[in-house]
Amino acid sequence: MKLYNSLTRTKEEFIPINPKEVKMYTCGPTVYHFAHIGNLRTYIMEDVLEKYLRYLGYPVKRVMNITDVGHLSSDADTGEDKMLKGARREKKTVMEIAKYYTDAFFDDCRKLNIKIPDVVEPATSCIDEFIKVISGLIEKGYAYESGGNIYFDTSKLDKYYVFNNFEEEDLQDGVREGVEKDGNKRNKADFVLWFTKSKFEDQELKWNSPWGLGYPGWHIECSCISMKHLGENLDIHCGGIDNAFPHHTNEIAQSEAFLGHKWCNFWFHVLHLNTSSGKMSKSKGEFLTVSLLESKGYSPLVYRWFCLLSHYRKSLVFSYENLDNAKMTFEKLVARISKLEKSGEVEVDKFEKYKKLFTDAMDNDLNTSLAITAVYDVLKSDANDATKRALVADFDKVLSLDLLAQADKIAEKPENTDENDPEAEYINEAIKLRTAAKKEKNYAEADRIRDELKAKGIIIEDTAQGTKWKRI
Ligand code: AMP
Ligand code: ZN
Repeated sequence: MKLYNSLTRTKEEFIPINPKEVKMYTCGPTVYHFAHIGNLRTYIMEDVLEKYLRYLGYPVKRVMNITDVGHLSSDADTGEDKMLKGARREKKTVMEIAKYYTDAFFDDCRKLNIKIPDVVEPATSCIDEFIKVISGLIEKGYAYESGGNIYFDTSKLDKYYVFNNFEEEDLQDGVREGVEKDGNKRNKADFVLWFTKSKFEDQELKWNSPWGLGYPGWHIECSCISMKHLGENLDIHCGGIDNAFPHHTNEIAQSEAFLGHKWCNFWFHVLHLNTSSGKMSKSKGEFLTVSLLESKGYSPLVYRWFCLLSHYRKSLVFSYENLDNAKMTFEKLVARISKLEKSGEVEVDKFEKYKKLFTDAMDNDLNTSLAITAVYDVLKSDANDATKRALVADFDKVLSLDLLAQADKIAEKPENTDENDPEAEYINEAIKLRTAAKKEKNYAEADRIRDELKAKGIIIEDTAQGTKWKRI
């Protein structure tokens, strides 16, 4: 498989350090609020990468942190801890909101068929590891104490800006949200490893350390949690593109300084989900969540499908119009699959031929949109239905769209609704009126009818086979 490596800015053949265990690390969520669907695009595409590696036969060990301390409102060590902000917003303790939003994140993952990594470790459970690595960095001369905090000294490295061509002068104070000049730093690019002093005094979680009562910086968390579970060498490190600088740049600086050798071979970065007004972010208040999409009648797997239709290295624009198109194509695809007969023998030669179309697409830097074209090629082909179903099932090990399960549900269910329901006639009539209103572009009336039905506990869903309804 060829995979784009942000470190070398080229597509490279993926060769694991040890084919018996591919080591993969993922930057986990900062659990101060719900994940937005932009965050989840990154986790969906990382999930596809992990599943494709498994599909190719590699055993994968994947580790993810949960950031529950130290991620300040600016990625560059200034501002307030995001967790504290969340706790204050909800009048709860940091640990209470960490638990609540960690659970909410895994709930979203479950809905989107994102596999939970083999190891998930919250930062607050690794304080001893952070202290050990920071002490090692001080001993080796890569870190210094200043104004009560411990900083990494970037001037000790031959090359600090590994992902881009920034020079120190380009890293202007104030370019990022909330960045203020920190007079304790020897060099502008230096970053905090351990805080004992910060601009806000009410940090809730603090631990004893050789440098006084304090808490870790965000960057050290990922280096240490990765080393704790995956050792000194890593095959792939993943994250959204905004993590490349400063977060991943700092992770590389401190990990390699500590270890004394190269740490991670491949850096996999997912481009952002944007809205028409730019990057989707929590601080801007544009807050699209999976639950919000569900409440508007979109199944979470339609969002997964929407993400798979684009390459992970292209930014993706979210709009309801784009999502509606994805919903329509997804439902049509499922409807086509539902027509396939279950019986019959799989034709091995045809199976192999179409499997190759799929793997060729995925081997080329995870080209998921082309891999989906392979699904359509299968359905159009002269292969028998059993072969088609077997291929769909095989590809879905990676795509994780529950294609056969959804298709079988359609095939088994009568077209529409429960005609024995005492209100069936009234509901069907209301749906007809709503359809007519939509045709006339009278969306206000259409929404009014939908809301009226909802108030009676009836949910309606527009599908490729017409409007369906069910009781909650
Ligand atoms: P956070 O919870 O803020 O630490 O972010 C979790 C993950 O989502 C990280 O890998 C980020 O790089 C990624 N991310 C943040 N914003 C976006 C976005 N708009 N689109 C895609 N990924 C994002
Ligand atoms: Zn990280």
